[in-house]
Amino acid sequence: MRVLITGAAGFLGSHLCDYLISQGHSVIGMDNFITGSPENIAHLAGNPNFSFIKHDVSEYIFVPQKVDAVMHFASPASPNPASPFGYPSLPIQTMKAGALGTHNTLGVAKQFGARFLLASTSEIYGDPLEHPQKESYWGHADPIGYRSVYDEAKRFAEALTMAYHRYHNIDTRIVRIFNTYGPRMRLDDGRVVPNFINQALKKEPLTVYGDGMQTRSFCYVADLIEGIYKLLMSDEHLPVNIGNPSEISILDFAIEINGLTGNPAGIVFKKDKRLSDDPQRRQPDITRAKTILNWEPHTNLQDGLASTIAYFKQKINI
Ligand code: NAD
Ligand code: UDP
Repeated sequence: MRVLITGAAGFLGSHLCDYLISQGHSVIGMDNFITGSPENIAHLAGNPNFSFIKHDVSEYIFVPQKVDAVMHFASPASPNPASPFGYPSLPIQTMKAGALGTHNTLGVAKQFGARFLLASTSEIYGDPLEHPQKESYWGHADPIGYRSVYDEAKRFAEALTMAYHRYHNIDTRIVRIFNTYGPRMRLDDGRVVPNFINQALKKEPLTVYGDGMQTRSFCYVADLIEGIYKLLMSDEHLPVNIGNPSEISILDFAIEINGLTGNPAGIVFKKDKRLSDDPQRRQPDITRAKTILNWEPHTNLQDGLASTIAYFKQKINI
């Protein structure tokens, strides 16, 4: 297949490019580098199965060749510690990538009769009242909270994807991605994994927001990409959660990272501006991924963190 991947220079998009090429497909990457980096795809330069278009997906998309699949991953996805609101970093751009970007990428799929895969998120469940989260749960999201620009953009994107499926017969897929980590995350993107590893490698205390009792379930990137590929190759049109169901509190996660890095500086508890909107518990129910895709994650947290720590060590020259 020839596949258009938007957000190709980002964390997940760049791993997706590598994986698809390794499976014998050719990839057209698209990105405007708003949060991604050319470094993430530099190794693909000169590869005959890879080409790149620098473009903002919220503007009309022109693709020079027929594509067989479109994977829409372009969206800012992380908080920005420097922003007065903390989360998310690029509010209007986030809404435009989720709304206009999804419309434009669905348009490309319609034009070529290509299959379409939307990168959605566990954030569509908001601060969930159901635990773990199944795809059938409609969520508990604040439409006007600070996170709403991300949550509602993705909820709109899911609705638009289903509308193109139902009314234009587009062959669509929706993946709801849970917290994923691994090499190529941006060191300063504000998410908990780069924050903690960066602090630990500099022998600084880890900043745990609130009491650290909020939970997340972290999936290693290689596992996630394999699940997404299986979904792309399946015939499933309804949303599928892809993530690692192994749940951990942020406090235990900090302790784990300090242990793995031998950081003696410990932990500081911080009242962060993000806390009012911070989901308290998050864990995917992956029954659908297991039964429909025959997929489940294999990498345990220690192994995944070891390779992520090695990547950041090399990045910051420690
Ligand atoms: P990332 O910031 O590393 O990658 C996003 C990429 O999209 C960047 O390269 C950025 O430059 C590009 N981009 C953003 N807006 C664009 C625009 N208008 N036009 C063109 N390119 C644009 O983030 P990521 O973690 O790789 O996330 C990728 C996708 O996966 C996002 O859609 C995100 O919502 C989704 N997701 C990620 C996670 C996770 O844990 N990493 C969880 C849930 C959902
Ligand atoms: N968090 C933290 N310290 C940090 C960064 C994040 O305690 O330095 C917490 C944050 O409040 C949230 C969790 O870690 O409860 C995960 O945050 P992240 O931004 O990685 O992802 P999301 O909140 O979108 O799941």
